[in-house]
Amino acid sequence: MPRALTARIARVVPNRQVVATLLNAHQSRSAQLGALYADADGARKEELASMTQRSAEGSMAPVFTTFYNQLRSVREYHRKFPSAPSTESAETTLIAAVLEAAPEVGFTGEEAEGRYVDMHALHEAYLNLKGCERIDYCTYLKQCSHLAALPKTTATSGAYARYSRELRDYLLSFLRRTQPLMPLNKLIEAAEADFEQRWQNGAVTRWQSSPPTEAAPAPAAVAASSATLDLGTYDSAAALEVLGLEVLKHELTRRGLKCGGTLQQRAERLYLAKTTPLAAMPKIHLAKPTPPPAPHANGAASGSASDGSAAGLADGSDAAGTAAAARGARAVALLEELVARLGELLADVLEESAMMVEKKQARTYDEIERDLMLAAQEDAMEVDEDEDEDAEEKPIYNPLNLPLGWDGKPIPYWLYKLHGLNLEFKCEICGNYSYWGPRPFERHFQEWRHAYGMKCLGIPNSKPFQGITLIEDAYTLWAKLKAEKGTTAFQADTEEEFEDGSGNVMTRKVYTDLARQGLLD
Ligand SMILES: [Zn+2]
Repeated sequence: MPRALTARIARVVPNRQVVATLLNAHQSRSAQLGALYADADGARKEELASMTQRSAEGSMAPVFTTFYNQLRSVREYHRKFPSAPSTESAETTLIAAVLEAAPEVGFTGEEAEGRYVDMHALHEAYLNLKGCERIDYCTYLKQCSHLAALPKTTATSGAYARYSRELRDYLLSFLRRTQPLMPLNKLIEAAEADFEQRWQNGAVTRWQSSPPTEAAPAPAAVAASSATLDLGTYDSAAALEVLGLEVLKHELTRRGLKCGGTLQQRAERLYLAKTTPLAAMPKIHLAKPTPPPAPHANGAASGSASDGSAAGLADGSDAAGTAAAARGARAVALLEELVARLGELLADVLEESAMMVEKKQARTYDEIERDLMLAAQEDAMEVDEDEDEDAEEKPIYNPLNLPLGWDGKPIPYWLYKLHGLNLEFKCEICGNYSYWGPRPFERHFQEWRHAYGMKCLGIPNSKPFQGITLIEDAYTLWAKLKAEKGTTAFQADTEEEFEDGSGNVMTRKVYTDLARQGLLD
């Protein structure tokens, strides 16, 4: 049950933080002690020297003189500053001091002590990025770590770099706050090393091999075919047409040519590139010089192509600018990678946050408040369970006054809601007795309390009176029924009277029954 789980998390987080603080303090103190033992400042050596110096002369006396001198000064010091804490209290004060000095780990209201993420600001920043889909907060939470799914055109902007840095920082800080014991630095180092290796191998395809495309989720077929498109194998523009609009556009962009036009125009332009080097191409076919995010990559990738036109383009551009762009691309790619890794670590939290947001949207303020109260109650109950397992006699914590189940504990809140036990039904006939939930209310019309109430009113508790709770209504209906009965036609079967030979009066039905059995004379 997720709520129970999150409740546990909420209590685990502060505990973990305490442990992490103590661990850090322990480590730093150990380091201090290590330095002392290593005698970095030479104090210990000096002291030893002062003790052994004179004993080298053959007499032991100076050793003791030095010792007593020091002892005296130590005693004097303690007489002046009489503070001799016992070891026990020293330990507790030490721990208290360490914990107090620890930086306060805060959560925003929405983070609910580390249960959920609070990324509204980042969502805002995301929406302000150029060219990204407009999605609501809930959807954003689910896919915020998939930066690589954003269009490459968006990803090359400065705002994007800033956004991804902020995103990484937030995810990092959230992890640090909620899971202080996680060896996060090591994980990040490993991820960076892994990334570095892949970057060296040119395996970061989004930034290294493929040219900037309109949209990142380009069909894989397009990317694959364009990467290996060898014009040498096509002997006419018409042959190129079979590749389709997208592939041609892709290939044209890659070669620094204009990519618009009809299928035929594109194919002709591309076929022209087979025979003409880029420099000799008519200007009309050239793409407008746009700042390519990674022109060097284009050049490297097209080295395998039949002509070196794209490579020539890259050579022409400013080498320093290319290097800077490469560094920028690498930094952004690394950010994307880290965010994806952090997103994996936080997948559960992100999903739960999205669910929480969804739920919140579907609920009224009252419901939210009640749920919060309930969560607090569950926390308290769990704490109770943990703290005194054997203290069964303790009254059960039940602020909502939930009815008790078969095990003597309050029934679950969802069951309570399901049965509508929060709905009150009053019955005047029962002396304004309250029934909770529609089912007990429906049933009560046949039960003793209501039957007794009806009897006191002098009304038969029959079917027509089901559902009537007001005394006045019951009287009115009773009067109406009685009047109806009076006006109904004479019912021969039950109301016609017969008399037998000896003067016994009976209904017609009884009379005919007896007559049929031959009991009448
Ligand atoms: Zn009643």
